Amino acid sequence: MPAPASRSADPPILVVTDVAARLVRRGLLTPADAAGGWRSARVIVFRSGPVVCDPPPGTRGIETRCVDLSRGRSYVSAAPMTLALYNTLTRRVEPFAPLAPPRVTLYTCGPTVWNYAHIGNFRTFLFEDLLRRYLVYSGYDVFHIMNLTDVDDRTIKAAAAAGKRLEEHTAPFVEAFFEDRDYLRITPAHVYPRATQSVPAMVRLVERLLERGVAYKGEDGSIYFAIAKFPTYGRLSRLDTRELKVGARVASDEYAKDDPRDFALWKKAEPADEQVGAAWDAPFGRGRPGWHLECSAMSLEQVEKCCRTETLDLHAGGVDLIFPHHEDEIAQSEAATGKPFARFWLHGEFLNVRGTKMSKRFGNFLTARDLRDQGVDAAAVRLLFWQTHYRKALDFTDEALAAAGAGVKRLGEFYARLGEGDGGKGDGDLATLAARFEADFRAALDDDLNAPRACAALFQLVHEGNAALDAKARGAAAARGVLDRAMTVLDVLPTAKTADTELEGWIRERIAARDKARKSKDFREADRIRAELAGRGVEIEDTPSGTKWRLV
Ligand code: AMP
Ligand code: ZN
Repeated sequence: MPAPASRSADPPILVVTDVAARLVRRGLLTPADAAGGWRSARVIVFRSGPVVCDPPPGTRGIETRCVDLSRGRSYVSAAPMTLALYNTLTRRVEPFAPLAPPRVTLYTCGPTVWNYAHIGNFRTFLFEDLLRRYLVYSGYDVFHIMNLTDVDDRTIKAAAAAGKRLEEHTAPFVEAFFEDRDYLRITPAHVYPRATQSVPAMVRLVERLLERGVAYKGEDGSIYFAIAKFPTYGRLSRLDTRELKVGARVASDEYAKDDPRDFALWKKAEPADEQVGAAWDAPFGRGRPGWHLECSAMSLEQVEKCCRTETLDLHAGGVDLIFPHHEDEIAQSEAATGKPFARFWLHGEFLNVRGTKMSKRFGNFLTARDLRDQGVDAAAVRLLFWQTHYRKALDFTDEALAAAGAGVKRLGEFYARLGEGDGGKGDGDLATLAARFEADFRAALDDDLNAPRACAALFQLVHEGNAALDAKARGAAAARGVLDRAMTVLDVLPTAKTADTELEGWIRERIAARDKARKSKDFREADRIRAELAGRGVEIEDTPSGTKWRLV
């Protein structure tokens, strides 16, 4: 039987085995769990590469025996890594395993900064945030790259219309994007390469393609990709089942769907480009990159720099990017490197308004700042989006947003109640409910990021947990710990409202006046003060340790 590996006085940790110690260090098991008779620590076992938990001989890492000496019992604790994701490349839900665990490389196509991003764009960025956060929760070490498209047909047109240089026009929208990202609690990517700052990598990529004979200069002076020279073109969007009209050419970044003509890698500089400063010298002629080329060049450059590889583990975006954008990214990258470009392709469905895609073009859009200015809690937007699977279209309505807001409030109240519960015992009904929730939560997200199911489990916990709290159940601290962990993924607790010093002083004075009234049995005055506080959004609660207040 293994001996205790370490003891620590504060908090009391009984680390029962080497294995448990290692799990605690890696954040896969809390010290409380390790001390409290844990049963279902998640042991991440990679099929190749490092193994997090030492498996006993012969078990191939599926089972790990850990012993809780405090109880003299032993548990078989095991859960193999089971995250599965829908891969657009294969049209199947497949077990996910990165190339070099525990590292995961993730590239997500970022915003085109010609204007403010709308919440349709942010539905895609939020789905990517869920993916990123759940990978981290699952023990992976994620490197996330998101580009900023600051030169393309749209940005050039918008800058010209505003009478500005490209950089001058896009800079405020880049700033606005970061502000909106922070408002929506989206975890920042590790790098945000900008197209205009990555032109040398784009020029090198075009040269590589020219050398390999898969690119050619058209009579218009632009450089095109020769689809006929890349036999697997169309694999992602399944173009092979449709009629291919190769040979014709298209220069626009957004050519019509289903139109698989040779696409422009490098567009010869036009006077309109020169006017806004969107032209660069290159050995094959002065011009500017095509949008598809930008993403290939930036992703390859960054993934090579960070992780010395030319293959991404994951590449994601909205469904409208499958064709032509991602198809063209694959063609350019693989034709240049001779290696698979990305192993998993994930695509999020649209945010719609009455059945139509939210889009600047249709004028049916709302920006993140519109919501922020209306006082909408970002947690409500997140919960609203999580309640529909990322591969299903979601119709945006004010009613659905308000309902999500109410859900967030209920969750916040439950969380606050847990904070007032018992002082840290691992046992009790609440701990059991939370452990069941955690298992459901993981099973749901492991299943192609099924966030609606994870949210259903969350609100079941709120419902049953409230009843358990009413019945004075124990285990609140353990339950709060489980919720904290789940919130590192969903992040849907209400944004804490803060009072300025003046308001805080007033609240304290009113609470003191109410206490005085209650002591002298003037309950009418006490009720009046409670109503006065409520009128300014202050909710109070009398507890054995005094009156507590919060802003609602
Ligand atoms: P853009 O700024 O136009 O390059 O788009 C940024 C991201 O938003 C891309 O991944 C698009 O697929 C995505 N997107 C655009 N419109 C919507 C929408 N209505 N719902 C969800 N995602 C969208
Ligand atoms: Zn892209």
